Amino acid sequence: PFFKEYLPKPEAVLPELAAKLNANENPYGPSPMALEAFKDSASGGNRYAWKELFQLVDKIADFEGVESKNIMMGPGSSDLLEKTAMVLFMNGGNVVSADPAYMSLIRVAESVGASWKPVPLKDDWSHDLKAMEEAIDDQTKLVYICNPNNPTGSLTDHKELVDFCSRVSEKVPVFVDEAYLWFLDEGAKKSMVSLVNEGKDVIIARTFSKIHGMAGLRIGYIVALEETLGRLQKITRGGMGITLPSVYAAMAAMDDTEFIDKSRTLNADCREYVYQSLKKMGITSYVPSSTSFIIFPIEMEGRAFLEQMTKLKVGVRAFQFMDQNWCRVSMGTMDEMKTFTAALNKVLA
Ligand code: PLP
Repeated sequence: PFFKEYLPKPEAVLPELAAKLNANENPYGPSPMALEAFKDSASGGNRYAWKELFQLVDKIADFEGVESKNIMMGPGSSDLLEKTAMVLFMNGGNVVSADPAYMSLIRVAESVGASWKPVPLKDDWSHDLKAMEEAIDDQTKLVYICNPNNPTGSLTDHKELVDFCSRVSEKVPVFVDEAYLWFLDEGAKKSMVSLVNEGKDVIIARTFSKIHGMAGLRIGYIVALEETLGRLQKITRGGMGITLPSVYAAMAAMDDTEFIDKSRTLNADCREYVYQSLKKMGITSYVPSSTSFIIFPIEMEGRAFLEQMTKLKVGVRAFQFMDQNWCRVSMGTMDEMKTFTAALNKVLA
């Protein structure tokens, strides 16, 4: 059942793109308030940012409704996904996740000697929580859940996931990657964070890269039990990779709710435009998205598709699963989405 990604050319050799829709970046960021804070604080860059980082941690703890000891920072959530994998899998074991899933944690787990136990998503594209629970064995060191999921953009029911995490975390830690949760209309309310307050061994990852539009400024965090963070912090202090201006930018970004709302609204407008454009092309079996990207089936081999889209200066991603080729397109500006649909029409014609 393993899904496959057709890798695009490395970014370094990609031509200048007219529509860069390959990395789920937010075209509007950083927020005006974040940008100002970044610029204003740059002159403090001769100092390490520990004091400011603790201020950011306190602010995040307050926002999440947990204690500061439950927060660990990283230069992007990738850093924390990868380090969690290194620590939990250094003696082997296996990781249970959906197939397809976001592969960053899983690839690192494999590279230090663990194996991947993929469980196909259900027909409605949600996680098959029952099958995932059954897949856990005595070698399972972690369950990884990305909700909403990447690359499918699909959502798993909040209540079912709370029940799953509550129960399963008694046996094995559950990692819930909530990179795209903010794109839901109800914002971050459907987080698994409150389980940490109930003493559950659940690790929740969040990032400033997506709705806050700060992918290049590199800030993310995890929320988890103090003991769990203690294990991770033996090999990494977390915050050492974060620059001082990024810390200030993150604090300002949290306050810039106007920007967050704008990102969510414009993102939803673009999704609607893409759905309508796909329907006009006769592509009706796209996966309804809860995120800042949409995946849809294409009748073309993935590598050739990527090459032709790149020639038209449009960057997207291509996957293969369930005996079908798929294109994943990120939501850019409306102009970029128009460039994308024009290119798609040409390539698939
Ligand atoms: N998790 C998911 C599901 C993602 O899609 C991404 C980036 O695309 C990340 C984590 C990593 O993002 P970052 O390292 O910028 O926080």
